[in-house]
Parts: sequence; structure tokens; C-alpha cells
Amino acid sequence: MVHWYVLRRFRIKFGMTAKIIMNIESIKSQFPIFKQQTPLGKELIFLDTAASAQKPQTVIDAISSFYSGYYANTGRGSYWPANAATNSFEKAREKVAQFIHAQYPEEIVFTSGTTDAINKLAKAHFEHLLRPGDQLIVSEMEHHANLIPWQELAKRTGAQIKALPVDQEGQVSLSDLSALLAQRTVLVAITATSNVLGSKLDVAQISKRAHQEGAQVFVDAAQAIAHAKTDVQHWDCDFMAFSAHKLYGPTGFGVLYGKREWLDQMEPLSYGGGMITRVGITSAKYLRKSPHKHEAGTQHIAGAIGLGAAIDFVQEIGINEIEAYLDGLTQYALAKLKNIDLLDVKGGMERAPVIAFTVEGIHPHDLATFLNEKGISVRAGHHCAQPLMTKLNVHATTRASFGIYNTKADVDALTDAIEEAKAFFL
Ligand code: PMP
Repeated sequence: MVHWYVLRRFRIKFGMTAKIIMNIESIKSQFPIFKQQTPLGKELIFLDTAASAQKPQTVIDAISSFYSGYYANTGRGSYWPANAATNSFEKAREKVAQFIHAQYPEEIVFTSGTTDAINKLAKAHFEHLLRPGDQLIVSEMEHHANLIPWQELAKRTGAQIKALPVDQEGQVSLSDLSALLAQRTVLVAITATSNVLGSKLDVAQISKRAHQEGAQVFVDAAQAIAHAKTDVQHWDCDFMAFSAHKLYGPTGFGVLYGKREWLDQMEPLSYGGGMITRVGITSAKYLRKSPHKHEAGTQHIAGAIGLGAAIDFVQEIGINEIEAYLDGLTQYALAKLKNIDLLDVKGGMERAPVIAFTVEGIHPHDLATFLNEKGISVRAGHHCAQPLMTKLNVHATTRASFGIYNTKADVDALTDAIEEAKAFFL
């Protein structure tokens, strides 16, 4: 069956309206994983894109053609494959800068992912700024990646972590933030989109308020990056990180964005080859400018090239179009899930395509295992957000999340299977 989706109607001249339409089946056909069946002979219904997105053929091909066609290390050789590899690597940096609306490509530092970026940022930058009694503010719904590195930093520096409360809708309030900011705050580290509640925060407002009190702002965009336009200049954040694998790109690769002033001024993220100007036995001088001062050692070149291809894939469809489509699908899913007796959706209606829920009487892991037998992949557990689970008063939830290859038929399969699980377990 062909699924044509009207994404949105927009007014053109003379009061006429035009439609943006998208053929999801044709987009899905670009993802080779869906061409096969599950080991149980079912069609794969992948509803765990919040954990990691599937990969389109163009991303796989870009990585493969680097390894088979022009493989060499970057930045060092003066010969053909090294130059070609360096060009593709740096082109990926430019694509990222443009995709997240950074002012300069030099503001893009490659890392192995969001977690790696936060750990390095904590050590290279904030460790030098924090004094005993200073404050770090995080929200109650942060992923462990945007919490534990700050906890460890607080232990090392004598700083304190304060939690910004999260309400039932998964939102934080500016007045709570203002109250916390009254203390000596060096950093507000906040997610742009919750990986459990799907809530989208008003990062620009949070950033503005934090800056008024002299605090710096780090934004965890791991979930936000694939679902809505990211604009670091509009957010006016000091730092931001995301992982390529959530944006239909490869694993083991990600980005730390930082304002150029900070990146040039701070200590290198790591030390070794490629980031030096002069080295003696007991000391060395380092490059002063981002990004190369921060990228020691051989980089994940294929990761950068894969991310570049993933950005091309997303841009070809259009990030606004993806957002509109997934908004519609999410609202459809929320309406259907909320109709199921004993099922409790966590969080509000306004959200990214991430829906965590519980079904009274069925353990989330049992439900996930049952759904797997039907070919449906969902995630069960605490989703690396244990403080939020405590706040929600649950140990675990089942989470369905969507990517550009999901359709209403997938949602129908999910809700039908949940009804079957209820009949089976209850
Ligand atoms: N933050 C959020 C909101 C996430 O969803 C994730 C991934 N689940 C991370 C951080 C960590 O990303 P990674 O594992 O790619 O480093």
C-alpha cells in the first residue's frame, strides 16, 4: 500500500493552497533493514528510533565508498586519498554547521557521541571554572549522560548540583529556574527534548534567563536533532551536543558545538597527535584554534562522512517536513494509546515522537517481549533517566518512538498488539 501524507497546506498567490506531500513507503524503501523479516517471520515494525535510528542506504554507501574508494587518514598526507578523505571530513563539518545554524564550521568539534562530548566538556572547560559552593543546574528529566558527568565534576570541584523541577507535562518553569539561578550558578545543562516524555523545552528562553545571571548553557540535543530544526544561534547556547546515530547516521560519532570564543579559549578536549604546534620531551605547545586543537588522534573519518550523508538525507526530505509528519503520527498514536483502558501515557500532548507509557498489571519488560514476538521493537526500562522514573513513581516504562519510516499502520499494529497483550497477561 502506498502512503501519501499531506504534510501541510500553505497559501500561495491568489488565495490558492498548495500541499506538501510525502511518500513514506518510498522513504522507507531506502532503509535496507526493512527489506527482511524478523527471525520470527514477521515484518519489522521498528519503534525504537529514540534509542537509535535505522540507516538509509545512502549513509551505508557513503561509509562503504570511503573505505573502498578513497580511504586514508585525514589531515596528514599530501597524496590523493588523504586529500580526498580530508575534504570529505571537513565537508561534513560544514554540513553540520549549516544544519544546526552555527556561525562557523570551527564551532563544530567531532566526538564519539553526546556522552563523550559532555564528559570532555566537563573536564576541559567547566572543571577549570568551578569553585566550591558554585552551582550546576540540571533538570529532573536529564538522561544520565547529561547528569553523571556533572555529578562527578561536582565531586571533584566542591560544586553543587541543583535540580530544576519537571511538571506532569514534562516542562520546566522559568520562575523555578530564576529561583535557582539566584545562587552562584556556572552552568545550566538542559535537554532540548526529553527522551522519555518527549517534551520540547523552550531552550532560547532558558538560555536567555541563564545568561542574565552570568551562567553558561549546555544543551543536550541528542533527541531534538532528528525531529525539529536546530538553531544554536536562536537558542544562544554556549555549548550543545548530539550523536550521529540518532539522526540516521553511524554509531560512535557525534558533535560538540561550542561558541567559537569558548572553544578557542578553553583547554583542549584531549591531548595527542594532530593538536600540537611544537613538542619536547617534557612539554608541548598546542594549536590555539578550534576545531583541530580539540581533535587529538585519528578521527572517526567514516563517522563524519556518514553523518554528512545522513544530513543530506534529512535535508532532502526537509527537517520541517519530517517534524510535521512525525507530529501528525505522534498525535495519532497518542489519541489511540489514550483510548486503551489501563494504559497510562507519561507526559503531555505537545511532544516529539517519543511516547513512554505503562499498562497496569503488565511489566514493561513483559510487554516489550510480547511485542517483539509480533515483530514490534519497543524499549522497556528506565531509559537512562532514573531520577525522572522516581519522580513519575515508576521503575520502568515501555517506550515507543518514531522515525521517518513509521506509518499509522505501525501505530495500529502497536495498539492492536497491546490489546492482545492485555488479553494474554491480565
Ligand atoms: N541524551 C539524551 C536525551 C539521549 O536520549 C541520549 C541517548 N539515549 C543521550 C543523551 C546519550 O547519547 P549517546 O549514547 O549517543 O552518547
